[in-house]
Amino acid sequence: ENFVVAIDGPAGSGKSTIAKIIGKDYGLTYLDTGAMYRMVALYTLKNNISLENKEEIVNALEKIEIDIQGEKFILNGEDVSKEIRTPEVASIVSPVAAIKEVRVKLVELQREISSGKKVILDGRDIGTVVFPKADLKIFLVASPEERAKRRMKDYESKNIKENFEEVLASIKERDHIDSTRKESPLKKAEDAIEIDTSFLNISEVVDKISSLINN
Ligand code: C5P
Repeated sequence: ENFVVAIDGPAGSGKSTIAKIIGKDYGLTYLDTGAMYRMVALYTLKNNISLENKEEIVNALEKIEIDIQGEKFILNGEDVSKEIRTPEVASIVSPVAAIKEVRVKLVELQREISSGKKVILDGRDIGTVVFPKADLKIFLVASPEERAKRRMKDYESKNIKENFEEVLASIKERDHIDSTRKESPLKKAEDAIEIDTSFLNISEVVDKISSLINN
C-alpha cells in the first residue's frame, strides 16, 4: 500500500536532512522535490534562457529529462547533483518554480515516482497539492538567521565561499517569492504539524517525527 510522509517548509528549515534520516529509519523512498525545480533552473542557466522569457522556459520543458537514481540527479544524461546546489541556481530557482507549466510537469513526475511506494517527500507544496491525503504532514520552520547559518555550513562543506548577509538576503527573497506566488504557494497545510527547529538539534526533530509516525 501507498504510504506518504510530506515534509514542507522554507529553505534551510532542515527538510532534506530530516527526511533522509526518517526515510532510512522507516524504509521510505526519499524524494527531494526541490532538487527537481533546481534542475529546471539549471537547464535555463546552461542554455542562457532569460528568466523574463517565460515562453522559452515553458517550451524548454519538453527537452528536459529528469532521472533520479538514489542520491544522483541526472539531467538529460548528465549528473548534476553538485551543480544544482550552487548559489547561482538558488538565486533563480524561485521564479522558475513559480511558472505553472513547470509545476504541472514536476508534480506529475513526483506522483509517478511515488506511485505504489512508501515514500517521504520534501518540498513546499507536498501536503497541500502533491499529496493532500498524505498519511503524515510536517511543516518545518526556523528563523531566517538560523536557516542562513545552516546554508552557510552547507556551502562551506562544499567549498563554496559565500557571505552570510548575502545568503540571508537570498533566503528571505526566496521565502517571499515562494510564499506569495499564485501557483501552490508555500504554506502550512491545515492538518500539518508545525515544528520549529530553531532550537532543536537533528535528533530531537527526528524523535518528534518518529513518535508521530509510530502513533
Ligand atoms: O528545497 P529547495 O530549497 O532545494 O527548493 C528550491 C526551490 O524550489 C524553492 O525555493 C522553491 O522555489 C522551489 N520548490 C517548489 N516546490 C517544491 C520544492 C521546491 O516550488 N515542492
